[in-house]
Amino acid sequence: MELPKYSDEEIVSARPDKAEVDPWKPYAYHVEEERSAAGTVDNVATLFLTNRECPFRCLMCDLWKNTTDETVPEGAVPAQIDYALDRLPDARHVKLYNSGNFFDRKAFPPSDRPAIAERVQSFDTVIVENHPKLCRDVCVEFRDRLDGRLEIALGLETAHPTVLDRLNKRMTRDDFRRAVGFLREHDIDVRTFILLRPPFLSEDEGVEWALRSIEFAFDAGVQCASVVPTRSGNGIMQQLEEDDHFEPPSMPSIETVLEEGLRMNRGRVFMDLWDLERFYECQTCGPERRDRLQRMNLTQTVQPPVRCTCSDR
Ligand code: SF4
Ligand SMILES: [Zn+2]
Repeated sequence: MELPKYSDEEIVSARPDKAEVDPWKPYAYHVEEERSAAGTVDNVATLFLTNRECPFRCLMCDLWKNTTDETVPEGAVPAQIDYALDRLPDARHVKLYNSGNFFDRKAFPPSDRPAIAERVQSFDTVIVENHPKLCRDVCVEFRDRLDGRLEIALGLETAHPTVLDRLNKRMTRDDFRRAVGFLREHDIDVRTFILLRPPFLSEDEGVEWALRSIEFAFDAGVQCASVVPTRSGNGIMQQLEEDDHFEPPSMPSIETVLEEGLRMNRGRVFMDLWDLERFYECQTCGPERRDRLQRMNLTQTVQPPVRCTCSDR
C-alpha cells in the first residue's frame, strides 16, 4: 500500500494552540521509581524543561505543546533545574527532558551546558533526549562535565523503514545505528523510545513491529528500550484517525509487547504508563492491568496475567 506523506506545513497547520509556559520554570517535574541498569529500583527525578520548540516536525509528536517560539534566555534552564530540584525528594538519577533535543543549539543557549552539568553533579546518571542526527562531539564534551554517567535517549520510533520515513523524523535506520554506535564508542549509555502501533499499521503489525523495533534497537547497541503506546491529540493524528490511517493500540497489545520484550532478555524494556487510563478497555480490570505492567517495569519479569470477565471473550 502506498502510504500518504505529510509535509511540515500540513503537520504544523493541523496543530491546536500551544500551552502558556514560563521560560524560568519547568512545565512539569516529578520523582518516580525505575529499574536501574544494576537491577535496583531507584528514584529518578524527571524534569520537563521549558525551551524553544524542536525544529523537527514528527508526525506523531505533541511535545511542541509546552515550548516557546524563541530560544530561552541564558540562565533560564539552569534556573528551571534549581526550581525543580528544590521541590523534589532525593533521587539517584535525573532525566532532563526538554521536549526536543538537548543538543539542539536553539533550544537553550549552549553556553548554559556547564551550569547545567554543575547542577546535576550529585546524580549517578543524567539522561537527556537527543535526535540521532545531533549525536556528535558536543555529547562527549557534556559527558566530560559530569561526575555520573551520561545516558542519551534516542527516538527510534519504529524500525519499519516506510513508516519511519512517513513519520517525518528525517532519520533512517542507518542514522540510528550510527548514532548508537558513536555514543557507545564514547562510553555514553543509550536508551530508546519505540512507538507501539504508529500510524499506518494494523493492530497485529503494530505488535510485530514494536517487537522487531526493540530487537533492532538492541542489535544496534542500546541498553534499554521504552515502548510508548501511540496516542492521538496533536492535530494531524486526529486527521489520520478520521482517514483510517491510525488507531491507538489495544490493552492486550500493550501487555503482549511488554511480555515479549522482557522475554527477549536483551536489556531493560519498559512500557510507558503515562496516561494509560485512556487505553483502558474495561474499568474493572484497567487499574489492575496497569499495576501489573508497573510491576513488570520494576521487576523486569513477566507477572501472572490479570483475569477478568472482559478477557473471557
Ligand atoms: S525530534 Fe522528538 S521532539 Fe522533535 S518533533 Fe520529533 S518527536 Fe518531537
Ligand atoms: Zn476487565
